[in-house]
Amino acid sequence: QTNHEVHEFQAEVKQLLNIVIHSLYTDREIFLRELISNAADALEKLRYRKITDKELRGGDLPLEISIELDDKKHTLSIADTGIGMTRQELIENLGTIAHSGSKAFIQYLSEGDQRDVNLIGQFGVGFYAAFMVADRVTVETLSWQPDAVGCIWQSEGIGNYTIDTTEGLQRGTRITLHLKEDAQEFAVEATIKRIIKQYSGFVPFSISVNGEKVNTVQAIWTKNKNEVTEEEYTEFYKYIANAYDEPLMRLHFSVDAPLTINSLLFVPKDNFERFGFGRMEPGVNLYCRKVLIQPQAKDILPEWLRFIKGVVDSEELPLNISRETMQDSALMAKLRKVITGRFIKYLNDQAKKEPEKYKEFWQNFGMFIREGAATDYINRKELVNLLRFSSSKAEEGQLVSLKDYLQRMKENQKDIYFINGPTKEVIETSPYLEVFRHQDIEVLYTHEPVEDYILSQLGEYEGKKLSSIDSADLELPESEQQQGEALSKEQLDALAGWLKEVLGDKVTEVKESKRLLDSPAIVLNSDQMTSSMHRMMQVVNK
Ligand code: ADP
Ligand code: MG
Repeated sequence: QTNHEVHEFQAEVKQLLNIVIHSLYTDREIFLRELISNAADALEKLRYRKITDKELRGGDLPLEISIELDDKKHTLSIADTGIGMTRQELIENLGTIAHSGSKAFIQYLSEGDQRDVNLIGQFGVGFYAAFMVADRVTVETLSWQPDAVGCIWQSEGIGNYTIDTTEGLQRGTRITLHLKEDAQEFAVEATIKRIIKQYSGFVPFSISVNGEKVNTVQAIWTKNKNEVTEEEYTEFYKYIANAYDEPLMRLHFSVDAPLTINSLLFVPKDNFERFGFGRMEPGVNLYCRKVLIQPQAKDILPEWLRFIKGVVDSEELPLNISRETMQDSALMAKLRKVITGRFIKYLNDQAKKEPEKYKEFWQNFGMFIREGAATDYINRKELVNLLRFSSSKAEEGQLVSLKDYLQRMKENQKDIYFINGPTKEVIETSPYLEVFRHQDIEVLYTHEPVEDYILSQLGEYEGKKLSSIDSADLELPESEQQQGEALSKEQLDALAGWLKEVLGDKVTEVKESKRLLDSPAIVLNSDQMTSSMHRMMQVVNK
């Protein structure tokens, strides 16, 4: 009986390794995240074993991850005191791929040379990322099971691997990477510390590099609100958002159904997109049990929420979905729904509880709420309540919601009126307002075409029709007798006929109006579009 065994990799593993070894990747540093995530998994499993199994090797070993770098030998080793692996488990886990998702990943990787390997962990083949930076990998491991023997697994990633038995190991796994010629930077302390901070800063076990602990920041999003101080929140915000200031708003919540979610979201103080810095990238990182799965995840929130920074951590992620892209997107959709709903509700609460703060939010980030109300059909109904306008009854700087408007409506008033113009001053010198001012009816002011688009799309709010007052078929509220002497029918026809002749194709129709008091004439839109939308169409059609 010999302890030395040579095994051939499963065909699928060979194929995967071939691509991993021979392609050039821009972000191959993610190999470390994968190895740390495996170590954290192994520690998590041991934590569980400790509760369920009394018979356990190395019961008092601290649960931790130690990374040792040797820039003379060009090695990086990562050791954990987790559950370890038996010989059989080594063969199953590091020589075969059990899940079907890996085929899709191989397909994806082989389509080009510079493919994004970031997804490797989600396909359940993260371990093999080690071969992006190493030409030889050694795994020394001792299982938690009292009767297991220590094993050494070795491979150059080509064709086969060997397993030997060994003495003198402590419980857990040590993986040593013999770094490739072009990957020597991964034996440099500063580089490794940076990578850990970037991807694994919130792993719930201590990580040390050459004996020095590096992950001091904790996964505060999994804590209770009353266990986290204001300072910790701010520190964390600065870390996650790469910011130097304090956040404007913060939402920290947990959900148990339909999914287990721990989330901590921030609204920054400033909106750089508004200042013309270009379109923002999404700013929410996706975690599964404190291990970073996707930085700046694209699908976790709708696009209009791209200004939010923070963390979403869901336990369901690796168990159900991460292997299969189809399920992946279904789960993401579920997550997105819950988190978006929560955030909108939070904003509505803030608007009530802290109107001044909400005003500040609106001034900076209102453009995103408008974008949402215009593009996010699922959430439009709730988003409409977050919109704010100036109006004929608002003082300078005061903001009016559709609800406010509703409460101030006249008893016999059927419609909600609005009018677009570049500024409050311009709108207030136009003849459109005359009759409304006279009858003391409030008119909302819109300044962006997208606002008119939203209101037109909406059609009505709480059963009240939304009407742009530059529309020709506007139904005016009942008014008292007009002042002054009216023209006779013949005089009217003659005047209208003459005007139509002079204006020609510029107008479709000239009609008598009951809405003017001081001004002699007014230009109106005969179709469903408002003036600002007409202007927008002119630009688009050019
Ligand atoms: P995944 O982590 O998604 O399962 P990996 O390719 O990263 O895929 O790892 C494959 C398997 O190898 C793991 O599921 C685990 O069983 C085993 N493994 C990897 N690293 C360790 C470790 N440090 N300790 C114990 N088992 C490990
Ligand atoms: Mg893994």
